[in-house]
Amino acid sequence: MANIILLGPPGAGKGTQAKRLVDERGMVQLSTGDMLREAKSSGTAMGNRVAEVMARGELVTDEIVIGLIEEKLGQGAGGGFIFDGFPRTLKQADALGELLARTGQGLDAVIEMQVDDAALVARITGRFTCGNCGEVYHDATRPTKVAGTCDVCGSHDLKRRADDNEDALKTRLMEYYKKTSPLIGYYYAKGQLSSVDGLAEMDAVAAAVASVLDNA
Ligand code: AMP
Repeated sequence: MANIILLGPPGAGKGTQAKRLVDERGMVQLSTGDMLREAKSSGTAMGNRVAEVMARGELVTDEIVIGLIEEKLGQGAGGGFIFDGFPRTLKQADALGELLARTGQGLDAVIEMQVDDAALVARITGRFTCGNCGEVYHDATRPTKVAGTCDVCGSHDLKRRADDNEDALKTRLMEYYKKTSPLIGYYYAKGQLSSVDGLAEMDAVAAAVASVLDNA
């Protein structure tokens, strides 16, 4: 079992790779973005409070996301945790290290998914997902076989994220470069960083991620 971080800008493919690791290795995906969207759709006070911040593409406060992760870490994961979209700031990275140490766990690898900005814009602005099973689609590169119906579970509940538009994406990218990209140096200095080409075919990316995991 291994605990890993998937690191990369929005649209790098972190969620897609995380879902494969869940299916193939029984790992547990901890996506703070998914947790925040769930809090919003279930109408909790915290969810409502952060909805506008998220829609603009800005980061929510460190305290909120660290609290979300702390709750989940206590529950443990036999197959290991995949941190997807967390940490996103140096403060969150320090907090994760402390939380793992406190619960007797470690961090085995940090996988940076490298992509270029032009590809991100194209990927994100065509993206939609199945609200029932979470399958990810794209208008141009991966449409559903039958319009309006999920290939995997047959649901008609196909959704676009409120922040998957060009304006919010610009803010999300800026937040990434200002606040999250320093984590690349942070984990490199700790000897934990591996980088994969996130622009390769989905299966080739999965193979590169698997090889990092198997050598961790
Ligand atoms: P994601 O689904 O990972 O792209 O996250 C969607 C949005 O949720 C981000 O643009 C932020 O507003 C918020 N968010 C998710 N994870 C974090 C985090 N670790 N720190 C701060 N904000 C986050």
